[in-house]
Amino acid sequence: MVLKEETMRPDTLLVHAGEPHPRIEGAVAMPIFQSATFQTTDDRGYHDIRYARLSNTPNHVALHAKIAALEGTETALVAASGMAAISAALLSVLKTGDHLLAHKTLYGGTHDLITRDFVRLGIETTFVDADVPQTWERHLRPNTRAIYVETLTNPLLDVGDLEGAARFAKAHDLVSLIDNTFASPLGFRPVSVGFDLVLHSATKYLNGHSDLIAGAIAGSARRIEAAKHTLDHLGGSLDPHACFLLHRGLKTLGLRWRHQTASALRIARFLAEHPAIGRVNHPGLPSHPQHDRARRLLPAGTGGMLSFEMRGGRDAAERFLSRVKVPINAPSLGGTESLVTRPAATSHAGLSPEERKAAGIGDGLVRLSVGIEDPEDLIDDLRQALPE
Ligand code: PLP
Repeated sequence: MVLKEETMRPDTLLVHAGEPHPRIEGAVAMPIFQSATFQTTDDRGYHDIRYARLSNTPNHVALHAKIAALEGTETALVAASGMAAISAALLSVLKTGDHLLAHKTLYGGTHDLITRDFVRLGIETTFVDADVPQTWERHLRPNTRAIYVETLTNPLLDVGDLEGAARFAKAHDLVSLIDNTFASPLGFRPVSVGFDLVLHSATKYLNGHSDLIAGAIAGSARRIEAAKHTLDHLGGSLDPHACFLLHRGLKTLGLRWRHQTASALRIARFLAEHPAIGRVNHPGLPSHPQHDRARRLLPAGTGGMLSFEMRGGRDAAERFLSRVKVPINAPSLGGTESLVTRPAATSHAGLSPEERKAAGIGDGLVRLSVGIEDPEDLIDDLRQALPE
């Protein structure tokens, strides 16, 4: 039986999809083509030139095919960062005078991009609650072009009505975009519910080793061509060496993600029982407001992210952070090392205390990105760092 990519499971795709055939000089690992430019040949015209900024080196081509196979899209495009991917994708869809609907709790960089830079470009945004689709229609304007959501919100891990958002976009002729960073394609494949463009900070789970900054966009050939046109001109291409690292990191995504997903759930259950903890945010817990939806949309699990509110507020959270030994106090997520942060002092420090309160982010909230360590060691460490 010849295995075809269409029938391969994610772990096999991660290793084999997009690999060059025949292998280059027989190399099992993808070689790095660290060349800015490539020799012009007779059969290639000016528009076919190969130049690293145009994201068309062999390293880019292989990665695009691998990510597209994972997300189940026609094609994909890597970028120099998650923000390069997000800005290029949005700017390929929106122009001056357009209006965007966006989920109200977006990643801070995306929020700032659309509320500051896009306003200067004459692109307006209305924030909506991704959990309440009945409210979206009244925010539509004749110039509304797109809707933008995230699979799992930061730091509360809410799961909006993602099917509803994709359906709403189709019904109103909008382009639907989703940041799938937190779930990774192993947790959720947005095109399966009808999203047009899928975005990733590949800095997180896709690469998984906290050693590079990268982004990705997946979608139809037509939409990716438009995004590539924008990315080419903004100059946000990924360097071939970083392509190589991302390519290598991707191969182990399945192993890492399943371990992190199982550990995070175990840790969430431990924390939920601990008297020093007020609330644990993890979609796998029945107490999570969208537990049933998460189980239906992300049946394999939701990845390694969770957050929890310390009963003693800010001081208790700071004491915990100073005592914890295995997780590193650092922003970002999805890597091999567990990372902890206090969102009120880091990712959400730019909000006023009232805005944070309204968003459900207390001063005692701690966010944990579970790495690939042994979960029993993590639990032992959390136990010794928490008050009795
Ligand atoms: N999207 C999400 C959900 C993120 O958490 C981040 C970074 O933390 C980004 C996008 C931006 O990614 P990058 O830092 O790779 O530009």
